[in-house]
Amino acid sequence: MQVPDIIIAIDGYSSTGKSSFAKIIAKELSFLYLDSGALYRGVTLFAIENGYISDDCTIDVPGLEKAMEELDLHFGPCGTYIGDRCVEAEIRSLAVAGKVSPIATVPQVRAFVDRKLREFGKGKRVVMDGRDIGTTVFPNAELKIFMTADPMIRAERRAAEMRAKGDDVNIEDVLKNLQERDYIDSHRETSPLTQAEDAIVLDNSHMTMEDQMVWLRAVISERFGC
Ligand code: C5P
Repeated sequence: MQVPDIIIAIDGYSSTGKSSFAKIIAKELSFLYLDSGALYRGVTLFAIENGYISDDCTIDVPGLEKAMEELDLHFGPCGTYIGDRCVEAEIRSLAVAGKVSPIATVPQVRAFVDRKLREFGKGKRVVMDGRDIGTTVFPNAELKIFMTADPMIRAERRAAEMRAKGDDVNIEDVLKNLQERDYIDSHRETSPLTQAEDAIVLDNSHMTMEDQMVWLRAVISERFGC
């Protein structure tokens, strides 16, 4: 399939499989994949390790804003890096998941991540996933997808993923975490999670990855005539 040079923006609720879908799209269509959630998670890990967020999620915004000037957060061969340290495993922990949504409400953090995404995605065939890609980061994206799925199915998928990595997780904790994140993400003031007017909804509760790719190819072929 000859897909033109477009931006594909994938937004949606937590654990709907946005990044798995985006990665397969990137591989099959030769696009660059950018995981915006990984950058929010990276800032969160940095904030935890350097004392800019407390156990009760009080954030030292001026301190964090100043420290982000020196924060070298980027993607590399193992995933997400702070400087030359690969932090891919740490940013996927429940400790980070429990603090990332409060961190992502901070406008200065959003501006920092938006800047990085626009810089990394500049002039490329890119597929990006997050919460505000089609509404804020790339409002002119040629194809916008909004993903959703049944919360219990999402929690089961995320728990299975974490168990496969050796984390001993309880399904109730995972469900609670993703519902809390959805609530905070949808209700924050700056760039809340919302479906862009021109986004197409994909409910993948009962779809395999193969089903989703068939769906995507049909959408692309109809939209771009290829
Ligand atoms: O996609 P992922 O679950 O890794 O994202 C982690 C968190 O980062 C989300 O729950 C959300 O709070 C925040 N996020 C965001 N905007 C994005 C991507 C992620 O606020 N574009």
